[in-house]
Amino acid sequence: MILKNFNKRSLFTLVLLFSTFVVYGLNQTYQREIDLLDYPFRVTTDNAFNGGTSVGYAEAASGEGLVLDCVLTDVYQWRFCELQFELHDQQGKGINLEQYNHLLVDASLVVDGEDQGHRPIRLYFKQRAFQYSDGVKPSSIEFPPAKYQQGMPIPLSFLKVPDWWRLEHAAGLFESQAEVSEIVEVSLSTPAQTEPGTYRILLKGMSVSGPWIPHETLVNILLIIWLTHSISNLIYSFRETRRENLLLSWEYKQLQNENSHLVNLAHKDKLTGALNRHGAHKVIFEQTPVKSVISIIYLDIDHFKSINDTHSHQAGDAILIMLANLIESSIGEDHFLVRWGGEEFVILCHDISAHSAAKIAVRLQERFAQVEWPYVKDLTCSFGVATCKNIDTFNQAIERADKALYQAKALGRDRIEIAPEDA
Ligand code: GH3
Ligand code: MG
Ligand code: MG
Repeated sequence: MILKNFNKRSLFTLVLLFSTFVVYGLNQTYQREIDLLDYPFRVTTDNAFNGGTSVGYAEAASGEGLVLDCVLTDVYQWRFCELQFELHDQQGKGINLEQYNHLLVDASLVVDGEDQGHRPIRLYFKQRAFQYSDGVKPSSIEFPPAKYQQGMPIPLSFLKVPDWWRLEHAAGLFESQAEVSEIVEVSLSTPAQTEPGTYRILLKGMSVSGPWIPHETLVNILLIIWLTHSISNLIYSFRETRRENLLLSWEYKQLQNENSHLVNLAHKDKLTGALNRHGAHKVIFEQTPVKSVISIIYLDIDHFKSINDTHSHQAGDAILIMLANLIESSIGEDHFLVRWGGEEFVILCHDISAHSAAKIAVRLQERFAQVEWPYVKDLTCSFGVATCKNIDTFNQAIERADKALYQAKALGRDRIEIAPEDA
C-alpha cells in the first residue's frame, strides 16, 4: 500500500531528507581549521614596557611545535612571559574568526623542572578596534593545558573581555562581549599572578576550527528549502484534490445522465417513444397529488390487424410510430401519451374534465383524417373517455374508459364515447 502510493514527490522528499542529514552531518564532521602556529611569532615579557627583568625565548621544538622558555623575575609584580602570534597581514588587517567555534590547544607547562600542567595558562585574543585609544580590544581564556592535551576543543564562546580592560574603558554590556571579527594577534602566556622561576611551555599545536557553513546559516538554508518544499507540496495536493473533485463531479454527472437515460428507457416504449405502463405508473402514483383530476382518453386503432395482414408487420410498426408522434405533438406538455399495449394508447390529461378531454379526442380525430398515412388511405381510431377524481381510483377509471372505448367500437368505430358516470 505504501509502495503503491509512492510517487516522484515522495521520492524527492526522501532524497531531500537524506541530503539534509548528510549535509548537516558532513558540516558537523568535517571542519575547517586555521593553524595558529603557521603565523609569525615573537616573545614578549614584562621587561618590554613594565620595567620588569623577566626574559623569554622561543624556538621550534625538537618534535613538533614550539617551545617557550622563560625566566620570570620578581622585579615586576604582574610578571609574565608570552608567545605572540601575529595574525594580521602587511596592511595590519586581522582575520575573522566569527565562523570558528572551537580552539584546540596541545600544550604542557613545566615550572622549575616540574610538570605544572594543572595550572591555568592564558590565551589572549586581540581584536582590532579603532574606536578605543589603544586600537585593540582583548579577550582571554584561561585553561589548564593538561586537560586539553587530548585534542579536547575549548569553545571560543568562553572568551571573556578582561575586567581591567572593561574598567579602563568603562565598557557597557555590549562592549563587554568578546569580539573576534578581526583578530590581529593571539598570545599564549604564563599563568597569572605567578611566582618567579623558570617556565617552559611546550606548544605542540594550536588551532581554531569551525564548520564549513556556519551552523546558523546552514539551519536557515535548510529551513527555507524545507518550507519551500512543504508549500509546493501543499499547493500540489490542493490542485490534485481540486482536479480529483472536478473529475469526480464530472463522473457523477455522467452517471446521473446515464442513470436518467436508463430510467427513461425503463419508462418508455421502445418502438414509439411514448411512456409505457411503468412510466404511466410513475407519473400517476409518484408525481401526481392524490386529489388530482385526471381525464383518461383510451384510444384503439380501428381494424389495425388488417394493416398488418395486408401490408406487413413493419408497415403496422410505421403507422404506430407515426400515430404516436402525431398525438405527442398535438396534446402539449401537460398531458402524457402512454402506449397501453399493442395498438392501444392512453392519454393522461391533467386537470381537465371528461368533456375537455373529449374535445382533445375530437381534435385528434380531425388530425388523423387530415394527414397522409403510409400504406393506408385512411386511419381511424375509437376513443373512450373517463375521469379520475382521486388517484386511488385510477385503475377503475381506466376500466371505465376501456368500457367506453368498447362502446365506441360497438357503435361503429371512429367515434368518441364518454363513460356514463362522466357524461
Ligand atoms: P378493432 O378495430 O376491433 O380494434 O380491430 P383490430 O384489428 O385493430 O383489433 P385486434 O385486437 O384484433 O388486432 C390488434 C392487432 O394489433 C393484433 C396485433 O397483431 C397487432 N399488434 C399488436 N402490437 C403490435 C405491434 O407492436 N406492431 C404491429 N405491427 N402490430 C401489432
Ligand atoms: Mg385492440
Ligand atoms: Mg384495434
